[in-house]
Amino acid sequence: VALSFDRVSVRFHRGGTSAGLQDLDLKISAGEKVVISGPSGAGKSTLLHLAAGFLEPDQGAVRIDGQLPPGAAGVAWVGQRPWLFHGSVRENLTLAAPQAQERTLWAALEYADLAEVVRSMPEGMATPLGEEGHGLSGGQASRLALARALLAGAPLLLLDEPTAGLDPDSAQRVLKALERLADGKRSIVMVAHDAAAQRSGERQLVIEQGRLVEDRRA
Ligand code: ADP
Ligand code: ADP
Repeated sequence: VALSFDRVSVRFHRGGTSAGLQDLDLKISAGEKVVISGPSGAGKSTLLHLAAGFLEPDQGAVRIDGQLPPGAAGVAWVGQRPWLFHGSVRENLTLAAPQAQERTLWAALEYADLAEVVRSMPEGMATPLGEEGHGLSGGQASRLALARALLAGAPLLLLDEPTAGLDPDSAQRVLKALERLADGKRSIVMVAHDAAAQRSGERQLVIEQGRLVEDRRA
């Protein structure tokens, strides 16, 4: 889907200072993969929250395909600590796609580089972030969230620092899985600090103090 911000402002007032986003004009085309960076507190998460429909702008409008409100077309969200259901890997996938066939579930696991992990689990299916040391690692949990997004078929994928806190190897696996999901149809917007994640975007935006200060294509 296409995502447009039309002169969007959001203000948070705290102790006399205001922060948020100011007068954001931005068009993201359907199928584009965009990476957003900038200092902490610049307004990057705020932009993602607006795109997801978690937050309403004070001014301006955020639109999907020029007319729909955010969220109307289906959004998948992957944060630093992905929200997984309390249950097995399988349950996490089937809750997202109840109709999916076995073959499709495994294809999604392959996509997310998790098939090996799941095959090596005692009962074939791991418990995400489980106790007793046999849960998924942070990187694996992020990749499971990506597999779920793939199965759910959400046309817009929003990622808030999905590789933060992961070791370089693990972060690389997450970026690889994300690359496989970037099929040119699904629109992807990712906030990222690390250089590797930033390089993975075909379009790179920089936000500083609530303003878009850079917009370049790789
Ligand atoms: P970034 O993701 O770039 O680190 P954020 O978008 O999270 O920045 O935040 C931008 C600014 O808005 C920060 O100063 C932050 O403290 C403030 N802010 C964000 N969300 C809220 C909120 N719900 N209430 C008050 N202030 C907020
Ligand atoms: P990987 O390289 O396999 O992706 P990570 O670097 O993400 O692994 O995680 C390293 C270790 O930290 C893992 O063994 C995992 O058990 C643990 N871990 C990471 N995130 C979490 C979490 N949210 N809850 C519990 N354990 C975690």
